[in-house]
This record gives sequence, C-alpha cells and structure tokens, in this order.
Amino acid sequence: LQIGVPRETAPGEARVALSPDAVRRLKRSDVEVVVERGAGDTAFMGDAAFEAAGARLGSRADALGQPVVATVRGLPEADLSALAEGAVVIGLLRPLDEPEAFDVFAQRGATTIAMELVPRTTRAQKMDALSAMSTVAGYRAVLLAAERLPKFFPLLTTAAGTVRPAKVLILGAGVAGLQALATARRLGAVTSAYDVRTAAREQVESVGARFVELDLEAGDAEDARGYAKALDEDQQARQVAALATHIAEHDVVITTALIPGRPAPSLITTEGVEGMAPGSVIVDLAAPNGGNCAATLPGETAEHAGVSILGPLDLAAEMPLHASEMYARTVAALIQEFATDGVFRVDLDDEIQQSAVVTHGGAIVNVRVRSARG
Ligand code: NAD
Repeated sequence: LQIGVPRETAPGEARVALSPDAVRRLKRSDVEVVVERGAGDTAFMGDAAFEAAGARLGSRADALGQPVVATVRGLPEADLSALAEGAVVIGLLRPLDEPEAFDVFAQRGATTIAMELVPRTTRAQKMDALSAMSTVAGYRAVLLAAERLPKFFPLLTTAAGTVRPAKVLILGAGVAGLQALATARRLGAVTSAYDVRTAAREQVESVGARFVELDLEAGDAEDARGYAKALDEDQQARQVAALATHIAEHDVVITTALIPGRPAPSLITTEGVEGMAPGSVIVDLAAPNGGNCAATLPGETAEHAGVSILGPLDLAAEMPLHASEMYARTVAALIQEFATDGVFRVDLDDEIQQSAVVTHGGAIVNVRVRSARG
C-alpha cells in the first residue's frame, strides 16, 4: 500500500500529516509513503529526515496520485483532479462544520475519512486525533495567556514583596481544558474549572484544580458519546449569570466549551468581560466555532474594558513539530488498522469507519454529516 503526503496549503498551516517516525512505523506494516518535497519543512521535518525514514520524495502530483492521501486539513478543490480513482483522503475535514465541502469529493468518487469523527472508544483511542490536537491547544492557550497577563502566574516571595499567584479559570474541562489546568498549575497559578458534564469534576480535581459548582438544575448534560448536550435557553441564561461572579474573580479565563456540530455555547457576555479587572486575559479556544465570549473576534486579539480577548483559530498549527508527530501517530494507527494485503479496506460495517467515513462510492454515507446538511 502506498500513502501520499502532500504539502498543506491552508493559510497558517504548518503541520504535516505524517512524520518520519510514522513513516518508519508504517514501513513495518509494509506501507510505503510518498512525501511531496518540502511537505515537512514548516514542521521542522526536512526531506532528508523523511528519506532517512524510508519515505520516497516526489512531486505534488505524485503524492496526490496514491491510493491513500494523508492530509492535515484536507485538499483544495484544484487538487481533486489529481486523485487516483477511488482514492481515500484522510484529514481533519471539519465534517460537521462544513458538511457542504464534501460534495466535490463525492462527485469525484473519493472516500473521505474525517479524523474528527473517529469514535472515542477504547479500540479507536490510538486514532484519536482530536484529543491529540486539543492537548496541544490547551497547553498553548495557557502560554499565550501567561505572556499577555501583566502579572506573574506563580506565588513569589521576594525582597521586593510578596506576589500573589494568578487565578486561572477554565470553562469546559474536556481534553483541552484539562491540559490547560495542568499547564497553568505547573506555572504556579491557582486553578479552577467548570463543565456541564458531572464526570468532569473528578478529572478537574485530579489535576489539582477546584471544580466550580453552579446550581442550574440541568442534571448531567452528557450524551451517550461522552460529549456535552446543549443547555436549554433558560439554563443557559442562568449559567451565564452564575458564571459572571466567578469570572470577575479571575485573572485569566480560558474557554473551551463546544457542542459537536453546533455553534459554541455563549458563556461570557460583554458585561461579564467588564466585570474583570483591567489587564485580565481571556483565551477563547472556541473561536473557530463562533467563540464562548461575546467579545471574541475569531483569529484576532480584541480589547474590551482593559481586558484582552484572544481568539486563536488553530493553536495546534502554531506548535507544528509535536502537533505533527502526535497527529501523524493517529493517522498511521488508522491506516495500519485497515491496511490488509496491500490495500486499504473500506468497510462501512466497521464501527470506526461507520463513524468516520464521510463519502464513499460517490455518495455522502455519513449519517451525522447528512443530518448536519439539513
Ligand atoms: P469538546 O471539545 O467537545 O468540548 C470541550 C468541553 O466543553 C467538554 O468537556 C464539554 O462538556 C464542555 N462544554 C460544552 N458545553 C458547555 C457549557 N455550556 N458550559 C461548560 N462546559 C461546556 O470535548 P472533548 O475535549 O472533545 O471531550 C469530550 C468528552 O470526550 C469528554 O468526556 C472526554 O473526557 C471524552 N473523551 C474520551 C476519550 C476516550 O475515551 N478515548 C478521548 C477523548 C475525550
């Protein structure tokens, strides 16, 4: 089986879909990798490293012409004519956010696999690209906040006086939120977090943070997949009001709250921002999905009432070396799982593929993507 790795073309995207380490792993399963020349440069994985790992270097057309094409962010439409008949394209394809983007793949007869839709089961854990990228984003969000905050994170006792530690609040304690908590604590901040899922409490406390309890009478807002369900309007209004008091007491608020396939829930109003002390920092990791804060400008840094609101769009791409290595492991694991006798086996009865395959045989076969298209 041959896998092609084209250079990423999305603006600001510095990751590469497979790393030299992943190439080595795949080689052990008799999978050969063709890398477009320079594809790894922005991730500090040069052509020589890929060659040393046993990859073949080629042109873009060469990489695109393989039976399986591994990408980070999918392919621009202009590339589709270069795909082989019935090719499999793997990537972070934003299936529930941009479900219309799959028409062209279906027309082309390509099989698309959205890494975001790999189920969170024990068997699929090694293919969990979302968790890998959320880990990077949670870590980076804290570094951005620490750099922006006009204060120290740690408690300091010096001849020039005692500095009180920064107070950091995380809203949404999923994978990114938990990594943010752990990182902020390592820097010496006092950490707290809130989530609508009851199961989050134990995880929050396990990384040394305080769990913020709000009395919303919403019960447990966790769905069967382990994701959060949307709150109703009344619960949402009470949540925002109850959170405002907590937000006002913190120097840094990092928001990560997402509901799959829906706009990000709104957690901080402009009044909520105004309640914070000047110099405080909000990092809104939900910015690509509209943001958890009313003052967020996706992709920009906004200022409101002396508070900085950062709306980064893709923090994982800003730390491309480890982000690529982690992403590549998940992609390689997926390929290894389904590569048998030199072919990539598309099997819509398999529970992982049933969840993650979006187009196949000229149609959109994914139930969730179909319903996201309305
Ligand atoms: P996510 O990125 O979809 O959302 C981030 C967090 O925001 C979630 O914890 C969610 O509960 C929370 N949230 C949503 N609406 C909110 C609101 N109104 N207020 C406050 N918080 C809100 O989540 P994720 O990081 O992808 O994780 C989702 C779940 O999947 C978690 O339970 C996580 O532990 C689980 N998970 C399981 C596996 C596995 O078993 N292999 C792997 C990764 C994650």
